[in-house]
Amino acid sequence: MRVFGVLSSYQDIQSTMLMPARIRLFTHRFSSLLPSSSSSYPPPPPFSLTFRTSLSHSAPPQSHHVSATKTPKISISDSAKFVRTVLFLPPGTDPEEVTEDMILPGSNIVLGPYAGEAKVKEVQFMGSSIRPKDCPKDERPEFAMLGRSNVGKSSLINSLVRKKEVALTSKKPGKTQLINHFLVNRSWYLVDLPGYGFANAPESARMDWSAFTKGYFLNRESLVSILLLVDASVPPQKIDLDCANWIGRNNLPMTIVFTKCDKMKNKMGNRPDENIKSFQELIKESYKIHPPWIMTSSVTGLGRDELLLHMSQLRNYWDN
Ligand code: GDP
Repeated sequence: MRVFGVLSSYQDIQSTMLMPARIRLFTHRFSSLLPSSSSSYPPPPPFSLTFRTSLSHSAPPQSHHVSATKTPKISISDSAKFVRTVLFLPPGTDPEEVTEDMILPGSNIVLGPYAGEAKVKEVQFMGSSIRPKDCPKDERPEFAMLGRSNVGKSSLINSLVRKKEVALTSKKPGKTQLINHFLVNRSWYLVDLPGYGFANAPESARMDWSAFTKGYFLNRESLVSILLLVDASVPPQKIDLDCANWIGRNNLPMTIVFTKCDKMKNKMGNRPDENIKSFQELIKESYKIHPPWIMTSSVTGLGRDELLLHMSQLRNYWDN
């Protein structure tokens, strides 16, 4: 199946990954990225677990032995519990059937049966809307990119569509706030929402994003997922936490896209993985199930193909 053909090509980009290309599902390294709600699960290493690869569409059944050292062994149902509490399971995925190969590198996202064509072949700018009700009405599935000013949204959009300067949104506070629609492959929209939290803007303007985009989020039926961009090179910022909590409280679909994950040498503070862990810790109360998250860098290309694959599975499920 196509999904696993694509997965094998990840080896090519392993060198740019901050996390191992094949995340060890139950290793300390992976669990250290997770909120402490899951710290009791899984049990600390060393331990042993055998995965059964029983996916009809992949290679013939075989066993993967992960980090085998000593007991205790955990059952496949225990692993299913872990899968349910920590990983993002897309529709059509059975927690009992999840194997480590199915987790997208640098994320908690399991790749399921709906993943498919993820290449961006064509992008058309379809226009800007001043009000949510002026947005295109053709009901193609769409992903809305939201984030603080300077989070790297334009860079990520340009990296996703592999074109320079597709995202030419106004960056100055006080200028008209626009919703920009880009039609990808003539089949789905990437939507560039106004950035929030301009450093020099007055407090009222900083939180304007919510007034401006609230109507869009709550009424846009074709919205498959919000892509909330969060800068992983700095500690969690209140305005981003407020935004993530608002999205969670309103039960809106969201993927957290951590940006600037290449910035490892931050003299002032923590590493990206530590900031990512803290961010998730601080928003967990607002989410019944763990939202999907992924590490990206527009400088190295980290996470680009994985994010597009994730979007393909959400989109294809939405289309069905
Ligand atoms: P926007 O305001 O959210 O659209 O942010 P931009 O895309 O304009 O990026 C803001 C700044 O962050 C620019 O100086 C970019 O070069 C820088 N930047 C964006 N993405 C990355 C990234 O992945 N890694 C690093 N190191 N810098 C980035």
